Amino acid sequence: MFSSPDALLNNISLLPGIGPERQAFYVRLMGERIVDVLWHIPTNVQSRRLLQSFTPQHADCLVTFEAKILGHAPSRRYGKPYRISAINQDGQIVELLFFRARAPYLNKIAKTDDTVVVSGKLTFRKFLGADHWQFVHPDFIGPIAQLNDWTGNERIYPLTAGVNQGMVRSVIKTTLGRLPPIPEWLDDNFLKQKNWSSWPQALYEIHHAQTLANLEITHPAKQRLVYDELLAHQLSLLLTHRQTVNLPAVSLKPPGTLTKTLIDQLPFQLTPCQLQACQEISADLQQDHQSLRLLQGDVGSGKTIVALLAALQAIESGYQATLLVPTDILARQHYHTLQRLTEPLNIVIAILTGREKGKLRKQILADLESGKINILIGTHAVIQDPVTFHQLGLAIIDEQHRFGVKQRLALSSKGLNPHILSMTATPIPRTLMLANYGDMDVSTLHQKPPGRQTITTRVLSINRLEEVLDGLKRKITDQEKVYWVCPLVEESETLDLTAAIERASFLSALFPGQVALVHGRLKSQEKESAMEQFTQGPANILVATTVIEVGIDVPTATIMVIEHAERFGLAQLHQLRGRVGRGTNPSSCLLLYGQPLSPIARKRLAAIRDSNDGFVIAEADLKLRGGGEILGIRQSGLPKFRLFDLNDNPDEPMEEYNDLFAMANKEAKQILTNDPQLQSERGQALQLLLRLFKHEQALQYRRSG
Ligand code: ADP
Ligand code: MG
Repeated sequence: MFSSPDALLNNISLLPGIGPERQAFYVRLMGERIVDVLWHIPTNVQSRRLLQSFTPQHADCLVTFEAKILGHAPSRRYGKPYRISAINQDGQIVELLFFRARAPYLNKIAKTDDTVVVSGKLTFRKFLGADHWQFVHPDFIGPIAQLNDWTGNERIYPLTAGVNQGMVRSVIKTTLGRLPPIPEWLDDNFLKQKNWSSWPQALYEIHHAQTLANLEITHPAKQRLVYDELLAHQLSLLLTHRQTVNLPAVSLKPPGTLTKTLIDQLPFQLTPCQLQACQEISADLQQDHQSLRLLQGDVGSGKTIVALLAALQAIESGYQATLLVPTDILARQHYHTLQRLTEPLNIVIAILTGREKGKLRKQILADLESGKINILIGTHAVIQDPVTFHQLGLAIIDEQHRFGVKQRLALSSKGLNPHILSMTATPIPRTLMLANYGDMDVSTLHQKPPGRQTITTRVLSINRLEEVLDGLKRKITDQEKVYWVCPLVEESETLDLTAAIERASFLSALFPGQVALVHGRLKSQEKESAMEQFTQGPANILVATTVIEVGIDVPTATIMVIEHAERFGLAQLHQLRGRVGRGTNPSSCLLLYGQPLSPIARKRLAAIRDSNDGFVIAEADLKLRGGGEILGIRQSGLPKFRLFDLNDNPDEPMEEYNDLFAMANKEAKQILTNDPQLQSERGQALQLLLRLFKHEQALQYRRSG
């Protein structure tokens, strides 16, 4: 037995049976600590039958039997198998076949006249009227004492080169057999209520699962093990997060006359959820520590006005605000929108992107530093070094998934810990939210402003292009414009470009003088002029690569065609679709796919077609592709978990995971409120839990009281 629970943190090389020459393989497969062996959990269960006698119905089954070895017939020609003949308890002759056999080894484990255990897949064929029983490379030949190890239900483990099932099973068995008493880190009543076993017991159960159902998240043993990981994760997030979030910041005044004037002159009324979001944000801004809030709302839900109202609150308190956006086009669009909305307010808004150069740039930087500029709208250029604010009180980040934590921190350093409002049109399912932020405050615009057009979505094969074009010919007018999106070609910006250029010239031939083209390689002035052709000029079709993805607002656009829609992420498709349906005419979205379409791809496109709700789509996406894509960039999806893996079992009910996550979040908060130092008996057990899951660095953030 191991001397103490801490022994589980030791290197697996200390386990008997893991020799130095294979150690690297085990480490690659399971991890480097002993506890990682225990967490290497099976993915399937299969049964092996113990047979005395074979019948044709056993063909292709996994069987184990007692074999008396009759003799060896080495391969006589290259490519022919080495044969061992044996006899089972019922007297049936069986052949064991080996290609590229090592004769001395086989002679040792299956000596003629010995009785041994043989296990493997039984094959059966009739030849010249007689039954032939064979095993090609049986899984096991060994002493009769091991019979019981090779019968009944057995777990199938993930493998890597250099380690086989037998080796994995044996090292797990060894480790389980040596477990010392482990202090319980979960609450007793909670365990009873959930019907969960202790940690060692749950591990034992999962490694002795008798059916596949015993491995699923609905099974108590699996639940307990996953929950442990989520609890450790949430504790760690909360410990670290509190340390970094409670930075002092300026407390802004409640909204005043500027805000009121703006609301009074708006051509519309704020929706109830916009009002609520405004209140939540306003309360944040009045706190004397840095706030960090996420404002999420589907495309077109009206986030901009909410952001502007927050910015006005900063200005009224004598501070500046900045709005950070991912692209130049979007910056300009926001600039025009905000200019228009704030005309009667007499505030100064400026724009700063890579395009503002020379004298103009100098002037902007000077005005920013003197405090003359109230709101600075810009791209990444804003975060760069020479940009100095007079007094930055609020930083707003639009389409936050396009920016990383680093950029957020850089932005933070531009003021005395300005309040931060992140906005996203890509809703983050609760699971991802908890996994990534633990506790970030969220406001949600879950309803759209009234009077929006519905968008009809159709999924079509690209083979039906002719039909689509015929349809367009009938529809297109100056009031019914079309976006035509060409896909990203993986790894190749050039191919990508070629596709878009070719499509544009193809369409130009059919619709002379009516086609404009934008793509990532154009200079921003060229982009803007193409956009202008589309919004105000003669171009009724805008062919684009995904540069139009975010934020573009053209009310006359009513048709969105997306080529090779199967290559896009669901979140992206949903965003693209949100570019239409913004005016008074009904709109449609055509998703053209290339053949052949995989079953998953088909499901994904169906999910988009069947729902206009970003949240529903985001959840479907999480299920079908895993977390990465939802946040727009792969790296920022789900953090790496040891036991919790949505992608493993895409058919499992999401609710189970959501519930476990939410429970873990709640319990972690409670624990840290009652025992912030984790010093009670249970607290110490929880410290062990954190160490087991490699969260020990979070322990240094424990606070007194
Ligand atoms: P997004 O959330 O995608 O950023 P926007 O802020 O661009 O959405 O808003 C989309 C459109 O809806 C804009 O034209 C905006 O003026 C309009 N809008 C916003 N709020 C309302 C409202 N309460 N009633 C009517 N229209 C609104
Ligand atoms: Mg927006």
